[in-house]
Amino acid sequence: MELSSSIVNKIINKQINLDDLTNDDLAKFCQIANLKYRDGNPIISDEDYDFIYLPALKKRVPDHFLFKYIEPEGAGFSKEKILLPDVMLSIDKAYSFAQILKWIERLKKTSSEINLNHKDIQIKATPKLDGFAAFDDGNRLYTRGDGKKGSDISRVFDRGLNIYNDSARGQGPGEIVVKKTYFEKYLSDNFEHPRNFQASLIKEKSLNKQIKKVITEKAALFVPFSQLPFLSGDIQYLTNNFENIVTEVLAMVDFDIDGVVFEVTNKDLKNKIGSNRKFHRWQIAFKENKSKAKVNVIGITPQVGRTGKITPVAELEPIILSGAKIERATSHHYGMVKNQGLGKGSVIELTRSGLVIPKINKVLKPVLADIPKLCPSCQTILVWDSDFLICTNHKKCPAQIIAKIEYFFKVLANNDGFGNATFKKLYENNIHKVSQIYELNENDFKKIGFGDKTSANLVNQLERSKKEQIEDWRFLAAFGITRMGTGNCENLLKTYPLDQIFDLDIEKIANIEGFAMITAQSIFDGLKQIKDEFYLLKKYNFNLEITDSNKQKLDSNNALFGKKIVFTGKMNITRNEMKKQAKSVSIKILDNVNSKTDFLVVGDKPSQNKVAKAKKYKIPIMTEQNYLSNMNL
Ligand SMILES: [Zn+2]
Repeated sequence: MELSSSIVNKIINKQINLDDLTNDDLAKFCQIANLKYRDGNPIISDEDYDFIYLPALKKRVPDHFLFKYIEPEGAGFSKEKILLPDVMLSIDKAYSFAQILKWIERLKKTSSEINLNHKDIQIKATPKLDGFAAFDDGNRLYTRGDGKKGSDISRVFDRGLNIYNDSARGQGPGEIVVKKTYFEKYLSDNFEHPRNFQASLIKEKSLNKQIKKVITEKAALFVPFSQLPFLSGDIQYLTNNFENIVTEVLAMVDFDIDGVVFEVTNKDLKNKIGSNRKFHRWQIAFKENKSKAKVNVIGITPQVGRTGKITPVAELEPIILSGAKIERATSHHYGMVKNQGLGKGSVIELTRSGLVIPKINKVLKPVLADIPKLCPSCQTILVWDSDFLICTNHKKCPAQIIAKIEYFFKVLANNDGFGNATFKKLYENNIHKVSQIYELNENDFKKIGFGDKTSANLVNQLERSKKEQIEDWRFLAAFGITRMGTGNCENLLKTYPLDQIFDLDIEKIANIEGFAMITAQSIFDGLKQIKDEFYLLKKYNFNLEITDSNKQKLDSNNALFGKKIVFTGKMNITRNEMKKQAKSVSIKILDNVNSKTDFLVVGDKPSQNKVAKAKKYKIPIMTEQNYLSNMNL
């Protein structure tokens, strides 16, 4: 997948704010995290995935195919996929009691349609196993695969894997799991996570002594869902005893679990409510996010943003929240500081989040609000604009100028090593524009006071940022014009090419679909302001990928949008037609698989060489059918 490992690492290490990721990068990151998880090498915790990254993606791209389809499985399985005896879907998730109540309302509505009394709806609660999903038809064991077709992993039974409760084969869906206490005691030194162990058990060609021992000692098992202990009752029982039920179910088994599954047991109701392509609607998993903390505020530091908005940053008594030490938190604006009484000595509530600096949820104990009168950078008197405190000295305020430059390099996202401290130092040496930075050579950096190594690196990074291809809309967005985020920039460039946008009048901009008059005015003013700097920078020949304005396109949120794809094997449609169709919707077709390929689409009798290469580079493989349904045209 086309997300550099350095970006992936920065996200994992929380060096990039979630808010600063583009929709596309966030989606890619979620896909990579999911694939790695299914591969047995999770890169982030389940909590981070469930409560931070996935919800963020859902908020921004509700229709992303991650929410609609089960993703193709990752590397390490036979390329030959076999039809599952029954579809194996994923389970929809609820993160609050309110969402459970919504689900119950849907059940009630559907039960009315089949004349089933609400009182007769029976619900069963079981622990949600965090293992490796599989289907046992008594003859073969299948991976879940894409929900319809999986891989044959019957070998785990040949290897002696036992079934939970010493029950029989052929009980349908379940999970391969390892006992929690056993894992912690005997395996945690050799395996980072139970999933690594499960992956070895399933994928390795031959098992080592230790894994064999785990199997014979029945610490690893296949658990058919039908064998799980459960609580059950009607809707009223569930809603009245929700917290107790959750607590009790979570303590029922000695396996890793990541929630409670609620499901309807009435057959008619199950049939009526059915499923979509990813979930059965008759079941839902409840997951709880408990990482909240009360924290004492030491003081509030005003921080000047690139637009002049002042952001309140609360300095905190350090606390550990979900494994990370947190010393600062931000509030959205100074309106909150004023209204909720945020200041030295106040107590706030924090929730874990994907931000480097988490956001303040609410003030639990207010004090006298700590509100600055002057800009901490240029001492201009601050003014209120609704809830925001603003430094209006946009042209000369050092903090704003530095933040703008920082923003440019961040949005380009094809460079490393330029941080706030670097730009501050440059600013102090009269470098106030991005175009001036691109003029600097190694010697100039040294004269400013950067070390030999740093100077060489900074010059290299500037070169890299020019050579590495970026979309023209990203380049335009980097200038940070108000209302010109990546989405609007792309929209603008779909209609007018980059070299024409500076000649557009307000009316022409306002006529673009999705742009209102106010947006158009602000874009028009903004473009005028950046015009000189834009042409100065353009001279450096950035490698810009031109937005194609005429062709029919995939929605830019589509997972296939702009992706590099290789076809192999016989498909239902001729190769030429497939290529033509793909190109017409901005999918790039490559002839050979390499590390830059995003997906391999396989038909009948695919090239072994291509499949092997895709596996080597961990490139997701999809069937022709998957591919077409993902295009969603
Ligand atoms: Zn200022």
